[in-house]
Amino acid sequence: MTSDLSSRLCRAQEQAGAYGVDVLLVSPGADLRYLTGYDAVALERLTCLVLPAEGEPRLVVPRLERPAAVASPVGDLGIELVCWDEADDPYALTAGLLPAGASTVAVDDRMWAVKALALAAAAPGARQVAAGSVLRELRMRKTPAEVDALREAGQAIDRVHARMGEWLRPGRTERDVGRDIADAIVTEGHVRTDFVIVAAGPNAASPHHELSDRVIGAGDPVVVDIGGTVEAGYCSDSTRTYVAGGIAPEDFAAYYAVLLEAQRTQCAYAGPGVTAAAVDAVGREVIADAGYGEAFVHRTGHGIGLETHEEPYIVAGNDLVLEPGMAFSIEPGIYLAGRHGARIEDIVVCTDSGAERMNRTSRELVVLADGPG
Ligand code: ZN
Ligand code: ZN
Ligand code: ZN
Repeated sequence: MTSDLSSRLCRAQEQAGAYGVDVLLVSPGADLRYLTGYDAVALERLTCLVLPAEGEPRLVVPRLERPAAVASPVGDLGIELVCWDEADDPYALTAGLLPAGASTVAVDDRMWAVKALALAAAAPGARQVAAGSVLRELRMRKTPAEVDALREAGQAIDRVHARMGEWLRPGRTERDVGRDIADAIVTEGHVRTDFVIVAAGPNAASPHHELSDRVIGAGDPVVVDIGGTVEAGYCSDSTRTYVAGGIAPEDFAAYYAVLLEAQRTQCAYAGPGVTAAAVDAVGREVIADAGYGEAFVHRTGHGIGLETHEEPYIVAGNDLVLEPGMAFSIEPGIYLAGRHGARIEDIVVCTDSGAERMNRTSRELVVLADGPG
């Protein structure tokens, strides 16, 4: 693991150099965890990795968080810790660690604005850019160990979907069901529940509906989109659409079959050498040909790793050519406003010859019994 991390630091330095960036400034978040293994909580006190394109990395850290930093992989990576005390100015301290004459400084995409602004004020000679374009080149291409972690996360969320009949039935509210699912996400192998969407009936037509007090009706299509994070920091994200007891609305089965065919087509098509935009297009075509083009209102998917949404985005206009190790969701949906909707989502990882699914539960329409589960 430590050798993995030190090679990431080296590659980030090379990448920074190639992008004309003199130094990367990385605050707590997925980028810091990716580069150093340090899973620090973002708080008001400044913690910041100073990674010059050439030279030694250093970590600016509040003195009271020094023990946590030392206990993390940072301790084994030989990164020098530069501690600051409560009355010190950590921004002036950080500015003093920048390479002499640094003119372009990249700050991580998620750095709090107050911190980025204070760093800009402390180093007025340097132009700030976002580090995302530098670090995406690394984070987008998963190593076998990262793919293993995504597979573990996929299996954990599959175990939750497999238990849906225990919780999802007519007469319960979306919120009641969501609470049970959130608990199960942790008991089935995640360290944290990240999100729970239970969207029943007309709510299923809103892609990012979360939970409400709506009572689930017999025959309601219910979109269940759930995810969590496993111990290694990697995320799961899988959607299945269920019918909760009773008989589904008349046209539902017909467009669900179209959606299933679109998702199957996209999973079969995705692989090395094809573009992200083309993966989106092959599914959109199936849905449009069946007359539901207007009802597929979002992109096909997003990359996933230490964050649920990251590069690469599977969207029209993204001409990125997929490579082995790239991990992303394939999640087409059909949404009929005011009525109902459906979405099917799997995480896949691009291999040498195609795409491996991280999610293996059935994608056929599951009609849950309406009795107590
Ligand atoms: Zn989403
Ligand atoms: Zn999802
Ligand atoms: Zn997703």
